[in-house]
Amino acid sequence: MKCVFGPVPSRRLGQSLGIDTIPLKTCNWNCVYCQLGRTVPLTNERREYVPRYDILTQVKEALVRHAPGEIDWVTFVGSGEPTLHSGLGWLISKVKETTDLPLAVISNGSLLYLPEVRRALALADVVMPSLDAGSADLYRQINRPHPETTFDRLVDGLIAFRQAYQGKLWVEVMLVRGLNDGQEALQDIAGVLRRVRPDEVHINLPTRPPAETWVQPPDAEGLMRASAIIGDIAKVVHPAQGTYDLGGNDSVVEAIMGIITRHPMRQEELERTLTHWAPETITEVLAELAAGGQAQVVERFGTCFWSAVAARYPDEAHSAASAPGQPRRRRPIDKKDTEYEQKQSGG
Ligand code: SF4
Repeated sequence: MKCVFGPVPSRRLGQSLGIDTIPLKTCNWNCVYCQLGRTVPLTNERREYVPRYDILTQVKEALVRHAPGEIDWVTFVGSGEPTLHSGLGWLISKVKETTDLPLAVISNGSLLYLPEVRRALALADVVMPSLDAGSADLYRQINRPHPETTFDRLVDGLIAFRQAYQGKLWVEVMLVRGLNDGQEALQDIAGVLRRVRPDEVHINLPTRPPAETWVQPPDAEGLMRASAIIGDIAKVVHPAQGTYDLGGNDSVVEAIMGIITRHPMRQEELERTLTHWAPETITEVLAELAAGGQAQVVERFGTCFWSAVAARYPDEAHSAASAPGQPRRRRPIDKKDTEYEQKQSGG
């Protein structure tokens, strides 16, 4: 598995070399806003999903390929929850031995209640966990967690990590209209944040295609309310501007699949990004990937995004006929999706 990508412009970390330690999609949450589609099935098993030495070799090769100044951060992030990789602590220490670049981990924070996970993250310069809800009920509605990852464990883990951790703790709050942008929900979140005492709070909005069709970002009033209630340390994070470096990819297929597996993108974004290839080539390859069942088009907020078919958006098609500007065809709902719907409705 190709585990290193970019550098890509990150909302918070400039040009970031991404390290993805797990296959799409390995997660113990199933957030309604997830840009990687639904988590089917949820897993809370910590193990070595990809051999650690393979990952480290790829990181070293990528660092050699780039001149000083081309990478601002090395970031563990990717196709699910990175702390589910049991070798994460080892990998962080080896990457720190290899480079002086600052290192970040983007995590949902759900496993911080485990001492071994807190130890694994101790050497990171920045850890960015999520806190989208200040109550167990809303946590279940938004993050739809694995039963072992309870709200109390999330909060206890964040507090315990903060007490010992020497690096920067930046908590991300993803706002979803009608769920956590109201007065009460925001006051609950602020109450938990006061106990956690992060260095920064980043208010974020869904901009890539959410798993669920009904997810919308808050309106201006909801955003203002969030900034006011969460307080002075909150800052609104806007989508990054910058260049994607996909020069480490040997083929246009590898480049396209590498990026849309982790960041679903509009076609014109892909054309702007993949400057090694002509736009007509990209159009042709996308159509082939769609026809071959590797890429799909997902429509959200009135916009079409290209994503890997492995990302489960049960409402969408994955055929060339669904390419932007062409008539869309629905993907047949398969057995796993039906089981999922039944579970969600208590059936
Ligand atoms: S947003 Fe992150 S934590 Fe939530 S389901 Fe997606 S990968 Fe998992």
